Amino acid sequence: MTNRRQFISKLTAPFLAMPVLSELAFPSCASPYEGPVLKVALMGLGGYATRVAEAMQASKKARITGLISGTPEKLKSWQQKYNVSTKNCYNYENFDAIKNNPEIDAVYILTPNALHHPQALRVAAAGKHVICEKPMALNARQGKEMVEACKKAGKQLLVGYRMHFEANTVDIIQQRINGNFGKILFFQGLSGFRIGNPSQWRLNKELAGGGAMMDIGIYSVNGARYMVGEDPIWVTAQETKTNPTLFKEGVDETIQFQMGFPGGAVASCLSTYNMNNLDRFFLNGEKGFAELYPASGYGPIKGRTHQGELNHPHVAHQTTQMEEMAAILLENKKPLVPVDGLEGWKDLVIIDAIYKAAASGQKEPIRY
Ligand code: NDP
Repeated sequence: MTNRRQFISKLTAPFLAMPVLSELAFPSCASPYEGPVLKVALMGLGGYATRVAEAMQASKKARITGLISGTPEKLKSWQQKYNVSTKNCYNYENFDAIKNNPEIDAVYILTPNALHHPQALRVAAAGKHVICEKPMALNARQGKEMVEACKKAGKQLLVGYRMHFEANTVDIIQQRINGNFGKILFFQGLSGFRIGNPSQWRLNKELAGGGAMMDIGIYSVNGARYMVGEDPIWVTAQETKTNPTLFKEGVDETIQFQMGFPGGAVASCLSTYNMNNLDRFFLNGEKGFAELYPASGYGPIKGRTHQGELNHPHVAHQTTQMEEMAAILLENKKPLVPVDGLEGWKDLVIIDAIYKAAASGQKEPIRY
């Protein structure tokens, strides 16, 4: 028999549910976000900045308020498209003036690799937070200088490691922390694509700092660390080059590398600019395994473990990244896997050691 309370709750339940359902069905009815907003200037309006800018349109906590570019026509069109006022637009000569601009909290550096270090030092000196694309710099020494400059300025330095916030990736990391795979024994990382246009900066040692390793191999370096959950202590590496015309001196085409971790796990990785379909992480432990394939592309990312598929819905990585970075910078949120300067610097320490090992043919220690 239904008592009065059960009867009333049955009667009212659909009505109580209505506001929730209407918000889902008509998202525009949802109350606007009124929390703190990170005011971001984008620096270097190229291919990746275009993707970040589009994704930021769906972000509540981070907004484009400034633009820094060496191309006046781009400044004009981006300014209109993203509704940025003229007084918040700068070029590479005058952007130190952001110092006096309260409408910019952080600068997101999206220029070629070699420019990250000098530009980050200037942004820090102007008293703004730095968000910097990967690789954070050309080597560990530069990375360390960036960390120190931001520390001295009392500002934070974050690196654009978007996978640290991707739902399938985070799920696997959490399962590893919870012990679902048991003791970790092995990681395999495959990172590569076939590069096109021979005149692009990615094939110019001065601007790229190297070749595939700096650009795409870094995903396996960084991925090995968040999948295994430790920082490697030694590396061996072998370089192969089939096209010395395209891949000039100092621009690596393909490097295979192996790493050892303090807990005894080993990793075997491939970084290349000369093969497609290479974007796969595999983690093996005593109790089970995890696979991400694709692992680091723009998505959807596909994950599975020994217990079956993971099916987290796809959200543009850069939207989630900017929401989370705003929460880190404005609300002191601690992400599951850090995206700070120290994290970026560690990858550069490892990459320096990989290049050294490829040249020496020796097993090289990695010292942080
Ligand atoms: P692009 O070449 O598409 O854009 C770079 C922009 O930097 C240019 O459009 C230009 O913008 C500016 N720039 C300033 N000086 C130079 C110069 N000397 N040569 C060329 N461009 C210059 O590169 P991407 O957008 O692909 O890459 C930019 C950064 O983002 C790199 O560090 C890369 O590793 C990283 N990246 C990260 C990705 C990720 O998934 N996290 C994906 C792709 C790239 P302007 O005309 O406005 O000055």
